[in-house]
Amino acid sequence: MRSLASLFRATLLLLLVACFLPVSADPRAQSDSIFGPLPVFEFHSGFWLNLHHMLYEQAKALRDPSEHPTPGKYAHSFLDRAPEPHPALTAAEQRLWNDAVNFYVVNYADRDLLFSNDLVILKNQLGDFEDCDELSGAKKKTCDAGLPPNITHVLESAGAIYRAHYWSAHDRANRQWIAMIAPLIREQGVGISERLAAAYQTKWPKPKIRVDVSVYANWAGAYTTLDPLRVTISSLDPRNQDTAALEVLFHEASHGIAEPVEQAIVRECRQRDKAIPRDLWHALVSYTTGELIYTAMTPDNSISPPDNSVPGGGASPYAIREGLYARGWDDYLPLLTRFWQPYLDGHASFDDAIARMVSSL
Ligand SMILES: [Zn+2]
Repeated sequence: MRSLASLFRATLLLLLVACFLPVSADPRAQSDSIFGPLPVFEFHSGFWLNLHHMLYEQAKALRDPSEHPTPGKYAHSFLDRAPEPHPALTAAEQRLWNDAVNFYVVNYADRDLLFSNDLVILKNQLGDFEDCDELSGAKKKTCDAGLPPNITHVLESAGAIYRAHYWSAHDRANRQWIAMIAPLIREQGVGISERLAAAYQTKWPKPKIRVDVSVYANWAGAYTTLDPLRVTISSLDPRNQDTAALEVLFHEASHGIAEPVEQAIVRECRQRDKAIPRDLWHALVSYTTGELIYTAMTPDNSISPPDNSVPGGGASPYAIREGLYARGWDDYLPLLTRFWQPYLDGHASFDDAIARMVSSL
């Protein structure tokens, strides 16, 4: 009897597990495009936003081939590696697709995804309507994105082709990227966010930061727009993989909380009647993110000095590896190591560190 009872209990348990597992383990239970639950960030793989960035990238490549020697580099190189054969577009599909790219050439290719208000609003709107099959609201009123009719028409026409030929591979790449970063966010996310906020003398935003994962993002591989704070990051960009992905994410998110640093630099400059140094706050954010991430990732909290001789590698912070300091920030690195690092190590105050950096400019 005892064994029957325990068998019953075990069967009941198995049944319960079988009933609940698919619901709780399936990230699509809430929405097709949101992943969770993870701390700090909320990851999305959205159809319209991915389509928008792909059209923008192809339009840019057409507009200025010298800057884009391999049009659609990431998207196409990924499709080439995709396991199933990629079906060719029919002549009619190719015409519709070309029309959409040309629309982007005429209307958007000269504008920057980060600095054009229209493009930021469009990107946010496409993110918000990611679970809709349409943008016009013709079939479902709640799917009227309120976009100008010409852009709605272009995106819906190209959308049919994108859905048929590209989206499943792109969505899979985005989901794989999210699966790659998820354990790092789960283990390190809260700690790193708290340390960064403390370094900038502020609080990390309470709501999770929306991260739109897209096969193509922008020339930098990731960008951040404010009000609302949203990060767009490329899943296939080689610069956004493994630990570097964590650093890029936190660097981008820091754009939303670095205001106290910017203000402190401006204040110090005004007091000393100095010109406000271009991008010092940005170099500081890059430096700080790199330092804190690699401190968090090394168990004994020791950071080995960045090794620039290793191409793309080792534990060198992203900003140094990508040569950011060489792009006009080279004067800032010695200041950051001399005056900002002691603050990060707890040997100087925030105000002192900023004041000393500014007075040494
Ligand atoms: Zn940045």
